[in-house]
Amino acid sequence: MNIDNKQLNKLSKNDNENDNLKEISFEIINSHMKDMVFIMKVEEGPIFRYLFVNEACHNKCALPKELIGKTFKDVLTKDMYQFLQGEYASVFFTKKTRLFTSQKKMDDGSRWNSESVLTPIFDDLGNVKYIVAITKDVTKSLKEKKQLIESEQQFRSLVDTNLDAIISVNLHGEIQEINPAGETLLQAACKEEKPNSIFEIIGGNHQPVFKNLLNKCKLTNASQSLNASLKSENDRHLPVHIKIVPILVHQVMQGMYIIMRDMSEKTKTAEKIHYLAFHDQLTGLYNRRALLADINLEIEKLKGSEIQFALLTIDLDRFKYINDTFGHIVGDQILIKVAERLLEFHNSNCHVYRQGGDEFNILLAYTTREHTRRFAQSILSRFATSFYLSSQEYYITPSIGISMYPIDGNSEETLIKTADEALFRVKERGKAHYEFYCAEMNSTLKNTNIVSLETNLRKAIQNKELELFYQPQINLTDNTCNSFEALLRWNSPNLGFISPGEFIPLAEDTGLIVPIGNWVIDTACKQIREWKLFYKKDFRIAINFSPKQFQQPNLIEIIKEAICRYGIDPSALEIEITEGAMQNTMEAIPVLRKLKELGVIISVDDFGTGYSSLSYIKQFPIDVLKIDQSFVKDVLINAKDAAITTTIIHLGQNLGMEVIAEGVEKKEQADFLIRANCHKAQGFYFSKPLSNKEIIQFFL
Ligand code: C2E
Ligand code: MG
Ligand code: MG
Repeated sequence: MNIDNKQLNKLSKNDNENDNLKEISFEIINSHMKDMVFIMKVEEGPIFRYLFVNEACHNKCALPKELIGKTFKDVLTKDMYQFLQGEYASVFFTKKTRLFTSQKKMDDGSRWNSESVLTPIFDDLGNVKYIVAITKDVTKSLKEKKQLIESEQQFRSLVDTNLDAIISVNLHGEIQEINPAGETLLQAACKEEKPNSIFEIIGGNHQPVFKNLLNKCKLTNASQSLNASLKSENDRHLPVHIKIVPILVHQVMQGMYIIMRDMSEKTKTAEKIHYLAFHDQLTGLYNRRALLADINLEIEKLKGSEIQFALLTIDLDRFKYINDTFGHIVGDQILIKVAERLLEFHNSNCHVYRQGGDEFNILLAYTTREHTRRFAQSILSRFATSFYLSSQEYYITPSIGISMYPIDGNSEETLIKTADEALFRVKERGKAHYEFYCAEMNSTLKNTNIVSLETNLRKAIQNKELELFYQPQINLTDNTCNSFEALLRWNSPNLGFISPGEFIPLAEDTGLIVPIGNWVIDTACKQIREWKLFYKKDFRIAINFSPKQFQQPNLIEIIKEAICRYGIDPSALEIEITEGAMQNTMEAIPVLRKLKELGVIISVDDFGTGYSSLSYIKQFPIDVLKIDQSFVKDVLINAKDAAITTTIIHLGQNLGMEVIAEGVEKKEQADFLIRANCHKAQGFYFSKPLSNKEIIQFFL
């Protein structure tokens, strides 16, 4: 409260006109003012004498009742007297208003803070006649001020030392403040100029979502969060987690805090974990998990379209042999080299995977059957070059089974299965080749898994579920028959009738081909003896030999023993091998020579389909060529097939070999073969493969 001199003079002059007003003013000052009002009369010295104090003075200070007329010295403690005397004297001498604060310790130990304004009142000569003091209790407001400062400082240190970037923006997204972590983050994101708006920071892709959430925050007063990346000049996107927090003052939104956490380390770790989960440790190729995911992705992408993709399952031929002979370290090195070679084919439409072991996969997108065929061929060609490892040369050939989406399967499971089955077929045909899945491959086994098939096959011999059927081979000159091809049949009580095309590849893969093959040798020899003994017929039986059987070290012994056991003429036994079995000449030549020495007949099955080479025929002691049924099938309608068939017949004749045509189903085919001077023929036109019972009935 300010009282100027004139007003006070008026008060003291007791002006009649203003009596009422004076009374009211006095009443207010005396009884209603919360601030203390002291009026001191100044006497020479200077001495200050109490002239007036209002009620607030009595309420707040313990002042004596009879105060008016007394001096400071009379009333105050020594310390207080000295202090106030000094302050008032200063007003007296300077003739200027003075402001001071003071603190008083209360009886209960608390402190009482006050702020006083001393105002001099002058007489006509300009001397200080009175001093009016107005003292305010500022204890509470001081405390509040202190608290405010403290909480402001606490908030500052929270923001300034925070590891997250905190950027405050107004309602338009204009940046108001950035904490040190924010400065660092923006520098890391390669921002040279200080941005004005938050929208200059957020990466383009994430802008719409960010704007959306910012608006949502404005509308709802609720925090929002998102994962985004910051804009950068060199495309080095910095991943961040963003939280948008409203700044509310008395429930009114003033702006927002944009709190950003640098996620690049976390992203890197997550990327590393992802890499490990989806890659093969040894070769760095994608693994089986990645394959499954990618097939599914591809299926999802192509749903409803006409576009196809191919799954190639690649298995290295004789890899187990390399592993067993040279050890796993060499084996691993070779797998790495194979991976490198396959990776040469890698591009955005062609991904390479390793399932484990020596099994690789390729997923070929946007392809056709014809394109896939050429692709498979190019892989085979690439493997014609040998591998070098510690100056040792290795030849590795792959066998490739192919399934096509959607014809061969529309789920990852069926596509893998059908490609595997196609692969079995390649192995059966003598490896180092490729084959597409065809639905006939898997007629009876559609719902049987490979594991239960294997379990059943293991028991097949001891349970006597295997049987040999015999297909007559007809002499085309006189329509007689003196030889049969033995074809294996498996009648499983659990799985029904299973054709050799389905279980022979599995038998080869599991090694079961060895006991099964031995059973075939034994059964065929026994059959030759039976027919001779009981029916006095010298029939020759041809048995099919899998390439795997050639790796059996005691093969010759087993055949020799069977021949001796049943006392048969060795030339009554014929061994059919495929061109694939002859490919590894180093392995094949000694075995075939020994067989020849034994006196058994050797024939080449499915001649013309594998890696036919005239050099085989020259090098190997071959007696019989069997023209593959694929040529015979179209011999009447396809000039090329007709030419191949006649050429093989001439070749055989000139080299002194017997030639047997397979798969003869029509009279016209037989006629063609007779005209071409083919020696023998077999096929449904003459007879289906027959059981022993049927042979006895029809031939004996
Ligand atoms: P393969 O040696 O080429 O046998 C000829 C296949 O053609 C046989 O099929 C036979 O039943 C079938 N066939 C015969 N005449 C005709 C005809 O006129 N038209 C048609 N379309 N097909 C005819 P199968 O019995 O299913 O045998 C398939 C393959 O399984 C054989 O082909 C052979 O490679 C293999 N196999 C059969 N038995 C054995 C065996 O004991 N050991 C081994 N390792 N493989 C065997
Ligand atoms: Mg055969
Ligand atoms: Mg054949």
